[in-house]
Amino acid sequence: MKSKDWREALIAEVKPERFRYDEPLAGYTSFRIGGPADLLVEVNTRAELAKLISYCERMAIPWFFLGRGTNVLVDDTGLRGVALRFGPDFARITVDGVCLRAGAAAPLALVAETAARHGLSGLEFASGIPGSLGGGVFMNAGSYGGEMKDVVVAAEVYQPGIGFVTFSRDEMAFGYRTSILQKTGGILVEALLQLTPGDETAIRAEMKRLNAQRRAKQPLDYPSAGSVFKRPAGAFAGQLIEEAGLKGRRIGQAQVSPKHAGFIVNLGGATARDVLALIEEIQTIVFQRTGYRLEPEIRILGRE
Ligand SMILES: Cc1cc2nc3c(=O)[nH]c(=O)nc-3n(C[C@H](O)[C@H](O)[C@H](O)COP(=O)(O)OP(=O)(O)OC[C@H]3O[C@@H](n4cnc5c(N)ncnc54)[C@H](O)[C@@H]3O)c2cc1C
Repeated sequence: MKSKDWREALIAEVKPERFRYDEPLAGYTSFRIGGPADLLVEVNTRAELAKLISYCERMAIPWFFLGRGTNVLVDDTGLRGVALRFGPDFARITVDGVCLRAGAAAPLALVAETAARHGLSGLEFASGIPGSLGGGVFMNAGSYGGEMKDVVVAAEVYQPGIGFVTFSRDEMAFGYRTSILQKTGGILVEALLQLTPGDETAIRAEMKRLNAQRRAKQPLDYPSAGSVFKRPAGAFAGQLIEEAGLKGRRIGQAQVSPKHAGFIVNLGGATARDVLALIEEIQTIVFQRTGYRLEPEIRILGRE
């Protein structure tokens, strides 16, 4: 992958409408960290998605699918190969009775807002999660007792080497911050969510309450990727980090948030190197002091 000649060949063969060479990814992530992708392609049709991924697989070009970048840490050296993201045609949301169908690029907050507008309950928990529907399904994102698995009844997935397939909720194999997509490399294209009839005012009041709670507890004024670590069985990562005396601990411009020890924040100009060093230090000290091994929830990308 030293020469980047493969890019011209890919563009000539796949003919994507929108692409950029050596695009810095910091601007595509909530951490505001990350070097360039060799090639960033915005995918606007199912045919383009299939053609692009088939081509990459055939030519052994690494590819990575990016949602809204709110759960990733991209290395300072960037990503080799192709970073793909969906364009606006994959962000459509339609409502039919108690069901809502949304494209993977739709922001979760907008999906939740649309449900509220139609008096549909079930997505209140998701209104403050800053990712896309696709990232939310991939991660089985959740908060305040709700998870994507509670509402997703069917998922249209592009499965490399197979094509477009529809998975039922059971086939999605949802678990704590995981889904089948993490094993198979499938791309969520669209999902069908089943909600329950509710009262719009009550739904909005609940969303407001949860978001106020979020603002009170989370350092939303700084760039971050949310909770850095998964919740270990029987404990809370933030609490363990706080108890280990690491609240406010800083490496370079990366800091364990003094407001919520489960978050690492970018104080301005933090590098992936800073964040990774801080993650390792937290893991070591928490293990020494508590015996818990913290496992990152965020996806760490680009370290070959
Ligand atoms: C301030 C803040 C608060 C947060 N609060 C919460 C919370 O309460 N609960 C929670 O669960 N998370 C939370 N998060 C984390 C994050 O928002 C969720 O994990 C979200 O679901 C990630 O979606 P994304 O589109 O940003 O995905 P990205 O970060 O872009 O990607 C994450 C992973 O999903 C994959 N992915 C993205 N789109 C697709 C797709 N269409 N098909 C297949 N794979 C895909 C990517 O390849 C990557 O591996 C928070 C983050 C921040 C910054």
